[in-house]
Formats: sequence, structure tokens, C-alpha cells
Amino acid sequence: MPVKVFLNEDEMPRQWYNLAADLPTPLNPPLGPDGNPVTPDQLAPVFPMNLIEQEVSTERWIDIPEGILELLVRWRPTPLHRAVYLEKALGTPAKIYYKNESVSPAGSHKPNTAVAQAWYNKEFGIKKLVTETGAGQWGSALSFATSLLGLECKVFMVRISFDQKPGRKLMMQTWGGTCVASPSNETQAGRDILARNPDTPGSLGIAISEAIEEAVSDQSNTTRYSLGSVLNLVMLHQTIIGLESKKQLKKFGEDRVDVVIGCAGGGSNFAGLAFPFVHDKINGAEIDIIPVEPFSCPTMTKAPFVYDHGDTAKMTPLLPMYSLGHDFVPPPIHAGGLRYHGMAPLVSQAILEGLLTPKAIHQLECYKAAVLFAKTEGIIVAPETSHAIAAVIREAEKAGEEGKEKVILFNMSGHGLMDLNGYDRYFHGELHDYELPAEEIQRAEDALKDLPKPNMAKTGKW
Ligand SMILES: *Cc1c(COP(=O)(O)O)cnc(C)c1O
Repeated sequence: MPVKVFLNEDEMPRQWYNLAADLPTPLNPPLGPDGNPVTPDQLAPVFPMNLIEQEVSTERWIDIPEGILELLVRWRPTPLHRAVYLEKALGTPAKIYYKNESVSPAGSHKPNTAVAQAWYNKEFGIKKLVTETGAGQWGSALSFATSLLGLECKVFMVRISFDQKPGRKLMMQTWGGTCVASPSNETQAGRDILARNPDTPGSLGIAISEAIEEAVSDQSNTTRYSLGSVLNLVMLHQTIIGLESKKQLKKFGEDRVDVVIGCAGGGSNFAGLAFPFVHDKINGAEIDIIPVEPFSCPTMTKAPFVYDHGDTAKMTPLLPMYSLGHDFVPPPIHAGGLRYHGMAPLVSQAILEGLLTPKAIHQLECYKAAVLFAKTEGIIVAPETSHAIAAVIREAEKAGEEGKEKVILFNMSGHGLMDLNGYDRYFHGELHDYELPAEEIQRAEDALKDLPKPNMAKTGKW
């Protein structure tokens, strides 16, 4: 029985799929500080114009430039596995497939957009990219990408992760990136916070403020900011995952998929796998498409659909999304990449439309699933990815109860070899399930009440 399918390099997709072309109701536009839709000129100090154009595009298929294909081919196409050993352990009639994005140099799906963003910036004449990173996965992906293209890279890493995860910092350094702990003395935003609170552990919100400040204050105008999730263009770049998977499922002999699953922090690895299947669902296919989040950070399952800022310091435009509020402080769960307060506008709009059915799962169930996956399939997954696996196991058990040979596909978004201390704490019984108190969600909603409200129109078809 075949357990994995590769594609030849010349079978790699040559176009990305843009869900914005097919959403039954269009996205609400991002809004500036005056409450009006932001103009490309307002974004120009932050992003290069070629990426701003891509962000607002409604073309269904967008050609992947030859120069980007030449970068992606270092690790793509990635394999699609059939999880026969997990299926056997579960005794399920379901067939479980997973796309293995852990084979990239940085160990996750993130380099797919990192190399694309670095390439477009270089085309536009940019010399340096600045970004923030929480757990370090995005900072290492961008350092890798900029090293291939000869760009400078500066990463503001949340102080507490900087201290706890020296491995990620060393990966960035090896690829030539400069990683500093945030808050730092290098920006006004950082200095202000350090003056008030010298011992702060930092936060993603502060790190974003520092990165944007450094990008826009470069007098030579050759520095820009880069973001690893949430944006439409990031979802677009990741669709190569789902497009490859479709070709590989055919080679496995499958002509349909019943369930598609991915974990969702900002939404990009989920969207990358799922959006090509959302296209099929819009066109009549019956597929359950499930983004999975931690129970402790329930953006899609408990938060309202609102206009909110992407960062704590309110430097980004207002985005239409499910959000726990820009000042939400997530509990310290190990899935660092799933602790974001909002959700990509494209994923949010697809949820509103009923095309997706989000689920929230507690961390103990996720670690249990990850350990079973490691003992059967062999791969030790990232704490983020464990959420997808827990949902897959639930779906496989459901297929067993219904006696159906369902086809389940999920995104194995990354390996966990740099995040083993989460496993350590799980084995020592130090992890607990954590449910966000209702008052905390109410507080977040109250903080949003003076912001403009998005249009919540939908077709009601799904
Ligand atoms: C960053 C990360 C995630 C979460 O980010 P998304 O944009 O939601 O994909 C999930 N899995 C891994 C391995 C990550 O590194």
C-alpha cells in the first residue's frame, strides 16, 4: 500500500489561488484611523507597492513568478502521506492523509510566504526587511528567505521567548538575520516601555510596534515590514499547499475529500491547505472544512466578528475579523503560534458565510493526540499542529461510529523539535486545560464597542 506520494519538480503549481475572487459576499475593506478605507499610498511606507497590489487583488489565479518557483523548489513539492499507522492504531474505516510542511528548511509552512515576500521586496528595490516573532518560527523563516536573496533581516523577538528559546535565535543568526529582544532600546516604542517597565516580558503587540517603527523610519526608504500570517497575500502564497495536495490525492486514487482540517493561529497554514477545497465547496462539493484553535484562545468559536486592529499598539489598519480584542492577553499555552487575538479576514469571511466549521480543543487532548501521532507516524509535531491532529482523531472516530470510509485530509504544519519543553511539561503533568472566563470575552467586546462595525451580509447558502 502506498504511504506517500511525491510530485516531480515540474509538477509544482504555477499559479496561486485567490479565494477573494470567489467569496459569495466581498470582504469589508481595511479602514484607516479616520474610519475610511485605507489607500495604497497610506500603506506604501510599510509594504512595497507590488505586494499592496496583490493584497487587494480579486483575480482568481495569480501567476507565481519564475524567480519564486526557483526558491520554492529547494524543498517543494512537499510529500503527501497516508497515515496508515495512525489509522491502524485508531481502528478507523477513515482514510487519513497529511501534507508534510515540516520538510522546509525552517521546519514549517512559513517559508512559502517568506520567500515570496522577500522576492517581491527585492524586485521593488528594498534592501532590508523588519519583522516581529513570538515563538521564533516566523523570524527564522524570514531570515532563511532573506539569506537566499541577499537582503538584510531584522527580527524583534518577544523578550520571554528570546530568553526561553535560544535555538530559534541561533537559527536566525545562522541565516544572517539579526534578532533582538523586544522591547529594545533601538526604537522609541521600545524605550518608552522599558522606561516604564524595565522587567517586562514583552508581547507580540510591542514587537509589532517596534518592527513597524524601524521599517518606516529608515531615511533611505529601502526598508519595509513583513508579516507572516493574517494578510490576504499570505493566504494566497500558502495555497500552493492545497493545490499540490489535490494533485497528490489523485495519484493516491482519491476522487473526493470529505473532511479538510488545519490548525489556525492567524489562519495561513489552514487557508493554504483549505482554500482550494473551499473553491470546490462554493461550486457544489460537500466537504466539511474545519479550522481548529485552542480552547484557551477561542477567536473563531467565541469572539465576535468586528473591525479591530491587528496589533496591541493600534499601528495597523482596522481589519474585519473575528477578534478577542487587540488588548487581549492570551494565557501562556505552548502553541505560541495559535495565541493571536484575531483571525485572517479571508478565513473570517468564509466562517461568516458558513463555509467553514471552526472547532476549539483543549491542550491536554492535543498533546495526547501528538504523542499518539509520534508513536505511530513517527513525526514529533509542533504544539500548534497537535490541534489539527486532535480534530482528525475526533473525525476518524466519528467515521467509525457512522461506519463510513471517509477521506480526511489535514495540514501537518510543522515539526516540534524546537518546542520539546511543551512535551516535557505535558509528561510531568504540569499542563492544564484552561477555559477563558466569559467576563474576559465580555471585556474584550466592550473594548471594541466604539470602533466601526463591519457589514455582516451573507448569502445563507451554507
Ligand atoms: C506559525 C505556525 C502556525 C500558526 O500560524 P497560521 O498562520 O495560523 O498558520 C501553525 N503551525 C506552525 C507549525 C506554525 O509555525
